[in-house]
Amino acid sequence: TQYVYRFGGNVDDKGAGNKNLLGGKGANLDGMAAIGLPVPPGFTITTEVCTAYYANGEAFPDGLAEQVANGIAHIEGVTGKSFGDPANPLLVSVRSGARVSMPGMMDTVLNLGLNDKTVEGLAASSGDARFAWDSYRRFIQMYADVVLGLDHHAFEDALEIAKEDRGYFLDTELEANDLIELVAEYKKLVEGEWGKPFPQDVNEQLWGAVGAVFASWESDRAKVYRRLNSIPGDWGTAVNVQAMVFGNMGDTSATGVAFTRDPATGENAYYGEYLINAQGEDVVAGIRTPQYLTKAAREAAGAKPLSMEEAMPEAYAELAAVFDTLERHYRDMQDIEFTVERGKLWMLQTRSGKRTAKAALKIAVDMAAEGLITKEEAVLRVDPMALDQLLHPTLDPDAPRDVLTKGLPASPGAASGQIVFDADTAERRNDMGESVILVRVETSPEDIHGMHAAKGILTARGGMTSHAAVVARGMGRPCVSGAGSLAIDNTAKVLRVSGRELKEGDVITIDGSTGEVMAGAVPTLQPELVGDFGTLMVWADAARRMKVRANAETPLDAQTARDFGAEGIGLCRTEHMFFDAARITAVRQMILADDEKGRRVALDRLLPEQRKDFAAIFEVMAGLPVTIRLLDPPLHEFLPHREEEFAEVAEAAGVGIETLKQRANELHEFNPMLGHRGCRLGVTYPEIYEMQARAIFEAACSLAVAPVPEIMIPLVGTRRELELMKEVVDKAAEAVFAEQGKRIDYLVGTMIELPRAALMADEIAEVGAFFSFGTNDLTQTTLGVSRDDAARFLTHYVDKGIYARDPFVSLDVEGVGQLIEIAATKGRKTRPDIKLGICGEHGGDPASIEFCEKTGLDYVSASPYRVPIARLAAAQAAL
Ligand code: PEP
Ligand code: MG
Repeated sequence: TQYVYRFGGNVDDKGAGNKNLLGGKGANLDGMAAIGLPVPPGFTITTEVCTAYYANGEAFPDGLAEQVANGIAHIEGVTGKSFGDPANPLLVSVRSGARVSMPGMMDTVLNLGLNDKTVEGLAASSGDARFAWDSYRRFIQMYADVVLGLDHHAFEDALEIAKEDRGYFLDTELEANDLIELVAEYKKLVEGEWGKPFPQDVNEQLWGAVGAVFASWESDRAKVYRRLNSIPGDWGTAVNVQAMVFGNMGDTSATGVAFTRDPATGENAYYGEYLINAQGEDVVAGIRTPQYLTKAAREAAGAKPLSMEEAMPEAYAELAAVFDTLERHYRDMQDIEFTVERGKLWMLQTRSGKRTAKAALKIAVDMAAEGLITKEEAVLRVDPMALDQLLHPTLDPDAPRDVLTKGLPASPGAASGQIVFDADTAERRNDMGESVILVRVETSPEDIHGMHAAKGILTARGGMTSHAAVVARGMGRPCVSGAGSLAIDNTAKVLRVSGRELKEGDVITIDGSTGEVMAGAVPTLQPELVGDFGTLMVWADAARRMKVRANAETPLDAQTARDFGAEGIGLCRTEHMFFDAARITAVRQMILADDEKGRRVALDRLLPEQRKDFAAIFEVMAGLPVTIRLLDPPLHEFLPHREEEFAEVAEAAGVGIETLKQRANELHEFNPMLGHRGCRLGVTYPEIYEMQARAIFEAACSLAVAPVPEIMIPLVGTRRELELMKEVVDKAAEAVFAEQGKRIDYLVGTMIELPRAALMADEIAEVGAFFSFGTNDLTQTTLGVSRDDAARFLTHYVDKGIYARDPFVSLDVEGVGQLIEIAATKGRKTRPDIKLGICGEHGGDPASIEFCEKTGLDYVSASPYRVPIARLAAAQAAL
């Protein structure tokens, strides 16, 4: 088996583009080398080795050692240096690289190959002893942390002490002799902590680092990241071993990161940061504040330190040419790492750049306009879930703001919340339903769960490509980074800024689009759905086959849904109309009545209210289809649950408190979700459905443009249930038509939310004109998992891979999906033109929507804010 793929020089093992095998980084290093870009030579150990490593109880497969030795020989051949050679030593970097990028989640070791002898060789060959010893110092520190797992604070403290002892302020003030002493100190620390001397054998160093990269795949933070991003655990990571190039060889050297377009706005302008005389990690770690790449960006920010364009014009021009080559080659915006070593440019990485939803839209629409991609490709480029970011509010520009300070606009969107200073508190308070802003000096991968829980992130340090910024953009959380005037005291849990002091729990607002940080909550505005969003949606609508409807039961929700492009209502849950203060009393009277007569008195009070509800919704939907579901939940949901409510409710309903308690007792069920609900209510109390049907028909007849109501019976399991309920509806229709002297068209159909209904769909379709898959209940009843209690254990199921994703969020295509397919096939057999849709939560989930397209459903129905997501996902599914 080929475990190792080489690149660089004139050797190419043809790994370009094979991300599954070589990981994203390896596939593109090979890709860049293959199109002649300057890439330091190296090799990639495949992701299959990682998978095998874990399958074999953490042992490397046979034959790997030989192939790795071969890879090292390749690097030696191209560079003319030798691994472990004291005279002319080769140094390598060892980096992880999964199929999809997991920024900051996994480990890297730089400067590998240094030991007590080769450090002298490096000093001689570079002519720079300070540089050589500083590299050794960095290597020991990194290796001790990443490979040996020693506490990094001890090393940081030793560095601080070394500076203090000598009266220095900056790391760069340390001279060669100081660093020699520091290296000795570091080696003592390693031996003390690890019990063995720092490894001098370069091959031992190499295998240690390879093992550490594999181990980082199973680190807690990597697992959390995978869970949040639905990345399977068995993908594994590749390992990239590459000749080191140095950005820290003086003032003609530099290192940087760049995007070929602005990842925040999508603007077609080079965007990035660099640092003179630094190593790559210095930029990403956010410790030194980097400088701008272009003159224009520097001037726009009013910054002084020279941009790369001004300080290194030749290397910059070469870099700009590489940007264009890469965009044309990969036909997408690229995120790039580079190093300039003594004036010579080297490319260390390229990948499709993470971007905000806004930038994703703009880049897709622009690239289609530039002719770089087609409109269909543009539609496929935007992650439907990312649209969520755009559909949320921004700050009201006219509202007063109490601005505390300004940082960098690292991830757009606005958020208000209580200040918290650590990730665990963020998570805890979020679980309690509070909105929080996570405030940190800088974030690290350990903070990821807190960043996820927070509504926004604010950091005192770090640039636009710092960890906080990259992760926040990926998650769609607003973020302000590098707000340098914040003084954060983590122990006292206070924040000082502009002479003011804020405590944990105080509310602030951040605007990730401007960088502003404000005291208190600032009101927000709804987003505008025009521009690039509108353009892409037009392209998406042209590409999709399925219709998109909304789940809505108020005129306001219906209007929002229409504004977002809904083509009708797929589910109007009528019970939501019963909880209104004006109606709940009548509903309770109906429930508490002794007989049908009593119930009818109460229902007569409800009728005009329901009629108004339906008329208002029909009006908003102006002739579009509206599916109205008759009463579904068990009746006890409408009765009070707390002792202190009983007296008041009893009085309002005109019954004694004992009667009320007794009735509540009678209605009590052990398993209400499998109890007296859905059409079972209609079977027992047909007068309820009769009133609802009457309200629908009276409302429909009252409008100039008559809608075509689709009346939907819930929780049907048998043909006979639907038949009985259809009789009730038809009778109500005829009565209303006779009274009004006019007729309208309507359909009666059913939800498919029980396995029996799916299996008997051919019979049920003899009565029902349409099916709507209620996949919330269908999931609950098929899996035998209570949708209301699943939260307690389902995350463990997902962690253990029993279900790849929460089946209440993303359809269990294998299991529940089969029932949907059976029902669709059987339904069509009886009634070829049967209308099929889905109205469970899955109707707004892109993966589930893809399944609906494959199954040939006519429409999906999603909550109003998910309608644009569903439109785009339906288009992608059709392409
Ligand atoms: C369903 O069960 O999927 C459904 C849409 O109905 P509800 O969520 O109201 O039970
Ligand atoms: Mg249901």
